[in-house]
Amino acid sequence: MGKTSDDTLKDAARMSRIEQLLSQMTLTEKLGQLTMTASGYAVTGPIIVGDSTDSIKDGSVGNLLNMVGPGPTHEMQKIAVEQTRLGIPLLIGLDIIHGHRILFPLPIAEAASFDPRLWERTAREAAKEGAADGLAMTFAPMLDVSRDPRWGRTAEGGGEDGWLNSRIAEAKVRGFQGDDLSSKDALAACAKHFAAYGPVNAGREYAPVDISERTLREVHLPPFEAAVKAGVETIMPAFTDLNGIPMTAHVPLLRDYLRSELGFDGVLVSDYNAIGELIKHGVAADLVEAATLALKAGVDIDMMADAYRKGLPVALERGLVTMDEIDACVRRVLRLKEKLGLFDDPYRRGSTPEAPQALVDRRALAREVATRSVVMLKNEHDTLPLPASTQRIAVIGPLADAAYDMCGCWWAAGEHEPNTTVLAGLRAALPAAQIEHAAGVPILEDERSGIAAAAALVDNANAVVLCIGEGVRQSGEAASRAYPELAAHQRALAQAVFERASARGVPVIVVLFSGRPLVIPELDAKADAILAAWFLGTEAGHAIADLISGKASPSGRTPMTWPRALGQVPIFFGQRPSGRPMNADDFYTSKYLDVSNEPLYAFGHGLGYGRFAYSDLRVIPERVTENDTIRVTVDLVNEGKRAAEETVFLFMRDKIASVARPLLELRGFTKIALAARR
Ligand code: BGC
Repeated sequence: MGKTSDDTLKDAARMSRIEQLLSQMTLTEKLGQLTMTASGYAVTGPIIVGDSTDSIKDGSVGNLLNMVGPGPTHEMQKIAVEQTRLGIPLLIGLDIIHGHRILFPLPIAEAASFDPRLWERTAREAAKEGAADGLAMTFAPMLDVSRDPRWGRTAEGGGEDGWLNSRIAEAKVRGFQGDDLSSKDALAACAKHFAAYGPVNAGREYAPVDISERTLREVHLPPFEAAVKAGVETIMPAFTDLNGIPMTAHVPLLRDYLRSELGFDGVLVSDYNAIGELIKHGVAADLVEAATLALKAGVDIDMMADAYRKGLPVALERGLVTMDEIDACVRRVLRLKEKLGLFDDPYRRGSTPEAPQALVDRRALAREVATRSVVMLKNEHDTLPLPASTQRIAVIGPLADAAYDMCGCWWAAGEHEPNTTVLAGLRAALPAAQIEHAAGVPILEDERSGIAAAAALVDNANAVVLCIGEGVRQSGEAASRAYPELAAHQRALAQAVFERASARGVPVIVVLFSGRPLVIPELDAKADAILAAWFLGTEAGHAIADLISGKASPSGRTPMTWPRALGQVPIFFGQRPSGRPMNADDFYTSKYLDVSNEPLYAFGHGLGYGRFAYSDLRVIPERVTENDTIRVTVDLVNEGKRAAEETVFLFMRDKIASVARPLLELRGFTKIALAARR
């Protein structure tokens, strides 16, 4: 978007306020603006971790994170605005990853909806709720591409494809930031974690990353480029090192690429204690060196390391950094506060409080998105939707009535509304059915004494809904798993249920919860239907019940490949070809001796209640020259018996190029709802 003369005037006014402030600031106050500290609330009042509110008063803490609730936020901000020498408001940020009061599905789940309009709307609604609590910033979206289900943070992103994550980036930045950052309901977004945090070695959290320049440029950087183009205000460097250089000190990527090549002039905020961790990475001897490295790379805000406050005064004295370098960071932070309108409205009070209807509408949105995020992986013999005649349903498994676990990771960020469970959802959706429930086993603990009683419920049922999978803490940060699969005791429960059900001809519908693709060949072999529910948030139970009952047709598509065996990882659709055939019978071919090359479920897989037939693919024009726009059309018919929605993907392949190109590259997708053809 081009600048209007109004924008230019605003910029000039901003600049003069910022320059005036800067000219009056002491070094302590400047470093305060470059410091972000965690905050909380104790019985005695507001607290700052490892510090006291006196640090706000004397200007040595200028930004906070993890402040929850409008009261405490207001109280801290009041100290900054009324009791400091210069009255500079705090920038207060929180991880609003998938909703605040109303929780939307996890990012990996939402990605499965392949619906940019919904991605944007959920961010917009989350921003409204966050800003109403006095917050001005969220540490989202996470744009790290993940091709390894062992990595727990797979849950927080949009899966395996860089192009897809770029589309998510644009939608999320627009949603969080809205049209006008200074409006009362906008949050500054933070594209994180820059860059290539996803390919940590062997999927182990915080491990080093070694990837090629080509993979970096083609897969991992594009989502950040898209975020910058969409106007993202802040970016967070990753904890990890990339080919030996920790991202927090990565001059080529932070300065040369982000600042110079992309022209990003927003705020770089370090990850939690990441500047301090430069010492553990072995590239800095102490906080002075660590702070110097981060500042030289252009990191503006030090989150939680206290490296800038402790290290930069010494670094200045030694001539390692200059005041100009510090001022450049302070300017960027003050400019962000200006753009957010914090100098004029530090408390972010909307002129009119939200009407109660807003929460009702948001809940309806959460149900819609949750419904669209579920991926139906399998549906033998049209097991789903359940026929209206189904009178007795056994709802079995530890996740059937686990309200808390429906949140998914980043559950504790705000005071959220209670989640609906599958059990409650089914009871509400099917009031005439007789629904019995037993957990059978706990989610995590290997305690099997309840299995027999739970499996016995099968005897009296026309259908079983088996709710199993990961618990809420088994994905997200610091939740890498060497065995991304069902726990042994949950497998034992499933086995008992399958045996009993198959002996009696009762169909088993698995509702599988996880923050990542799991390795589930046994489930695939035995379940009649599988719904990958990921974690769906507040409306989880209603959404799942809507799909099981047939009120809605599943339309989610997996944004990440599900491996058949862990040894296939990394497995993703954008692999390059081999010079040797794949899966052929000959010995010297590109294959495994003990498992096929095929995934269990490919990227984009997802069934619905329609049956879509594609025909007549046309590429216009047939022969293209450089800079031509290509139109690709296809005819689509719903040959099923029910109305449903199809996701049409456009993949391409550059077949003869100067370097080996991926077998498939995603370049488009669209959703089309079609009534059944009679
Ligand atoms: C995470 C970030 C998060 C930050 C603040 C870190 O541990 O890596 O994603 O934004 O904490 O909560």
